Amino acid sequence: MSDRRPDKHDTGSLAFLTQAVHAGNEIDAGSGAIRTPLVMANSYALPEDASTISWSGTDVPLYTRNSGANQLGLERKLAALERGEDAVALASGVAALHAVFFTLLKSGDHVVVGDVTYEAIYRLFAELLPDKYGITATFVDTSDLEAVRAAIRPETALVHVEVIGNPTTKVTDIAGIAALAHEAGALLSVDSTFTPPPLFRPLEHGADLVVHSLTKYINGHGDAMGGAVIGSRPLISKIKADAMVDVGGVISPFNAWLITRGSVTLPLRLAQHQASAQRVAEFLASDPRVAFVAYPGLPSHPQHDVAARLFEGRGFGGMLAFAVDGDSATQDRFVTNLRVITSAVSLGHDESLIVHVAGGADAGPRVAFYPEDFRTFGHLRFSVGLEDADDIVADLNAALDATFG
Ligand SMILES: *Cc1c(COP(=O)(O)O)cnc(C)c1O
Repeated sequence: MSDRRPDKHDTGSLAFLTQAVHAGNEIDAGSGAIRTPLVMANSYALPEDASTISWSGTDVPLYTRNSGANQLGLERKLAALERGEDAVALASGVAALHAVFFTLLKSGDHVVVGDVTYEAIYRLFAELLPDKYGITATFVDTSDLEAVRAAIRPETALVHVEVIGNPTTKVTDIAGIAALAHEAGALLSVDSTFTPPPLFRPLEHGADLVVHSLTKYINGHGDAMGGAVIGSRPLISKIKADAMVDVGGVISPFNAWLITRGSVTLPLRLAQHQASAQRVAEFLASDPRVAFVAYPGLPSHPQHDVAARLFEGRGFGGMLAFAVDGDSATQDRFVTNLRVITSAVSLGHDESLIVHVAGGADAGPRVAFYPEDFRTFGHLRFSVGLEDADDIVADLNAALDATFG
């Protein structure tokens, strides 16, 4: 580190826009480059007396499965942005979520899980963790605090929820859930992928751990996968030791570098995503060919008041769920008629992405949020992108015209 510039490690007193630029970045001691270079190396030089090294340590660069220059920079940045003590970056959002569950849970434990969660999490708790490890789970409507209280048992070790749930946009009161979890001696992990900072910081509302799919808004450019967990130093150290060093699933230096770069513009991108999402939600809500729209920024959203209280005027995210007035085939026809908006999974990218989320018995409890018919027909999950909002609205309108003639 050069002595010509302030220490970029300590950005805690700076505003979010400034942190998004500077946190985790440092002047490279070798080259003098003012951005942390991409370091594609599996191993780092050992000290002369290597007998002092902890081979499972994660504090100094040693082996890229323990830590590396780009991973450490990204972790410092994420800890600063979420205002946590420490962070661990892993290969994907699912790897980060699994790392939390693998580290914190053991056979016989019980978990209370939101009934609207990312699909892989539903399957982990509905099938894989019970069948393989004897960990049981209760899926509960987390918009109903009394239902959460009733679901907690003496052996409940963890409550896991999403702030805005994927895919239906159900909103959960994080502080209320944190109080219930802690009363019962359980930890609270929160998947905040739909609500990246500065929109919301779960740790400030009582969560013990916050998890992100970095693949989504934090990278924002649709070109790299990653995941992260942020929280207290003791919890993150345990996740690093148990789930990163000993299970693997480490992030590649290149992806850590891309995500660090992408996250520089997070606050600017998020502001645009949110402004356009509000506009698009209002357009869809006003069109009689649209059967329903769920966007936390609309007063018609069932948890609009909770969302307004959580987000305190900082917006309502960039994700919405809706269905056009028709059956499953009609939803597909509508998607096929779109020209600007791309039909693909993932979200939080620069481009608008839409996906028809199937309904029916296999959808689990997630779709109970919706009007009766759409539990069968499925609905459209829409990630509003950074294109001009006029073009997004015009594309939706033209596809509605083409679908309903
Ligand atoms: C995409 C997503 C994940 C999984 O992240 P990957 O990076 O795809 O593994 C987890 N949670 C939520 C809410 C997501 O949207």
